Amino acid sequence: MSSVVWKFFDVSDDNSFFCVCKLCDILISRGGRTRKTFTTSNMINHLRVYHSEQLAEEQIVLQKKRPFAQLKQLTLTQVIEKKNMWNIDDHKSKIIHKLIGEMIAVNLLPYSFVGDIGFIRLLNHIIPNYCIPSRKYFSENIILEIFKNVKATITNDIDSIKFLSLTIDIWTATTANKPFLCITGHWLTDLFTQQRVLLRVIPLEGSHTSSKICDEITNVLDEYNLKREIIFFNFKRFCPKHDCWCKKVRNRIAILFFAFTSIINK
Ligand SMILES: [Zn+2]
Repeated sequence: MSSVVWKFFDVSDDNSFFCVCKLCDILISRGGRTRKTFTTSNMINHLRVYHSEQLAEEQIVLQKKRPFAQLKQLTLTQVIEKKNMWNIDDHKSKIIHKLIGEMIAVNLLPYSFVGDIGFIRLLNHIIPNYCIPSRKYFSENIILEIFKNVKATITNDIDSIKFLSLTIDIWTATTANKPFLCITGHWLTDLFTQQRVLLRVIPLEGSHTSSKICDEITNVLDEYNLKREIIFFNFKRFCPKHDCWCKKVRNRIAILFFAFTSIINK
C-alpha cells in the first residue's frame, strides 16, 4: 500500500517532513521527526477519511493484482476512521482557513508560513480536528476570497463619496529589487473623518515608460469606476524633470488634470 499511496501525494516543496494531497491540496505530516521514521499512516488516514471513493477504486485494482493486500489495508483504515477530522469544506474548517488567511494578509507573512512545523504543531494541539491546507490552497482560494471581499467593501465605500484624492508613488522594494506602482485613495466622511485605502499595488516590470504608467493608472480608474469630477491627483515627489512624463500622462488622462484645474480655479 505504501507505494500505491504515493499516487495521491507529492512531497511538499517547502518542507520534506510533509506531503501534499494531489486531490485536495491539504498538507499532511509524514509522521516521524527523521526520514527513517517517516510512515504513510497519515496519508492513508487522509485518503480513508476524505477520498474514500478514490481509495476504494485503487483498492479494487490492488485486489485484482494482490488479493491479500486488501485485508491488511482494511484493518489499518478502520483504525484511522475513528479520527473525526474536519473536511476542508466543513464550515468549522472554513472559519479557521479565513482567520489564517487574514493573519497572512495583515502580518504580510509568506504563504510558506502554513507549512512551518511550529505553526502546524500549534494547530494540531489546539485544533486537532483541523487539517491545514497547502499554501497553494491559501494563495489560490482563501487570500483571493479575502481580496474580493475587501475590494467589494472599498468599491462600495468609494461609490458613496463625493470627492476622492489619489496619491501615486513608484518605488523599488529593496527585499526583491522589484519596482511597484502604488495608488492610494483618500477622502473625508460627512463627519470629517479621514479615510484612506490602498487601491492597488502594481508590479512594474520592464521600462517605466509614461504610456505604461498611464495604462496602469487608467486601469485602476476603470476598475473602481472612478469618475472625473471626483478625482484629485497628487503625484508624490513631483519634479520638473518629470515634466515630459507628466505631459504624456496629462494627454493620456487629461480628465484628471482637468479636475485638478477646475478645483484650483474654484
Ligand atoms: Zn486530500
